[in-house]
Amino acid sequence: MGSAALYHLARSGVAAIGIEQFQIGHDLGSSHGFSRIYRNFYDDPLYVALAEEALPLWQELESLSDQKLLHLTGLLYFARPGNDNVEQRMGVMEALKRPYERLTAQEVSARFPALRLPEDSVACLTPGAGFLDAGRSVLAHLKQAQRFGATIHDQVRVDRIDLSGESPVLETSAGQYRCERLIISPGPWASEILAELALPLRVTRQQKFYFRPKNRAPYQPGPLPVYGDSDTKFYGFPDYGPGLKVADDGLGAEFSPSEVDRTLDLGKRDELQRWLESIMPGSGFSYVEGSTCMYTLTPDRDFLIGSHPRNPNVLVGAGFSGHGFKFSTLIGKILADLAADGATDYPVERFRLDRFDKVGGA
Ligand SMILES: Cc1cc2nc3c(=O)[nH]c(=O)nc-3n(C[C@H](O)[C@H](O)[C@H](O)COP(=O)(O)OP(=O)(O)OC[C@H]3O[C@@H](n4cnc5c(N)ncnc54)[C@H](O)[C@@H]3O)c2cc1C
Repeated sequence: MGSAALYHLARSGVAAIGIEQFQIGHDLGSSHGFSRIYRNFYDDPLYVALAEEALPLWQELESLSDQKLLHLTGLLYFARPGNDNVEQRMGVMEALKRPYERLTAQEVSARFPALRLPEDSVACLTPGAGFLDAGRSVLAHLKQAQRFGATIHDQVRVDRIDLSGESPVLETSAGQYRCERLIISPGPWASEILAELALPLRVTRQQKFYFRPKNRAPYQPGPLPVYGDSDTKFYGFPDYGPGLKVADDGLGAEFSPSEVDRTLDLGKRDELQRWLESIMPGSGFSYVEGSTCMYTLTPDRDFLIGSHPRNPNVLVGAGFSGHGFKFSTLIGKILADLAADGATDYPVERFRLDRFDKVGGA
């Protein structure tokens, strides 16, 4: 979110500095790796609209940086009878007149030969969905931000934000920064750096694993879409980077972000491999690698975007609740608009920080 905000600020001619505690490209937060789902397949029209608003911004970033970031492979979401989650979302697509296809398990295999879903599955394909190359997207935002004049100070940790004077002051490991406006998007570290706001956030440990099939051709983006199972909450990507990435959207254990246990849960890995083999039998998957990432969850899983209760010149973007990446270029624009102009045309009223009773702090 920070890299996107920096890009949009610089693009609109604002002199901006981006501050990051680790090295650029690190894998210790929430935005590293090869893939995040891009979809408008939500049961909530607000997120459908925001995903669609993000699309031209992603395309613009692709064009400026002359590389492919968004792979529109389609998203196949499926469930067994009795689980109405897929039906509900199809209802939203129907009501909003968005393209989707209801498919039987047989039709899924005819379309994507690697996939063999249980015969009685209900499946929905949304053609305008796919995945973003996460690591490249962050770097593209940063590189374009620099091209438009922004400065990046990495390996600089913000220890304290002083809001006692007119201008916000950052106390950092590299000294003080006095700012006219400030955007804070600290990911899982939000509760630490914004401790006085008592934000109702929980950080969970999530893990993702890569598997490589024997014959890679049928598993490439295109022959295989992004896929998600509403019953297990497991989901996966086509073969991209080290292999097929698979993860569990169910919530992992809670941690504080600096103490998260990054030891890989091999039981979860094996469970995900068994699931993958069950929907793509005969693939001969071998395990490649795994890594840890964090969800930062609000109680309602809606985001926190808006001004700091104590200072309208300070904007906060946090609590992206495990589904924020697809919107990140748009959220960067929204934060940049709010910081530069005090207003945005995008519908973010629902994300106000003060919607939770306790937020406000001293
Ligand atoms: C396993 C997994 C799968 C996901 N899948 C999807 C998906 O398919 N689709 C989707 O849309 N979203 C997905 N998400 C969610 C999405 O990745 C996140 O919502 C998003 O990346 C959050 O970005 P962020 O900028 O808030 O946090 P981060 O990427 O963690 O960025 C915060 C940055 O702030 C820096 N920082 C923090 N504190 C300080 C400080 N004091 N001083 C200096 N720097 C600081 C951190 O080092 C970090 O670089 C997934 C998340 C995970 C973990």
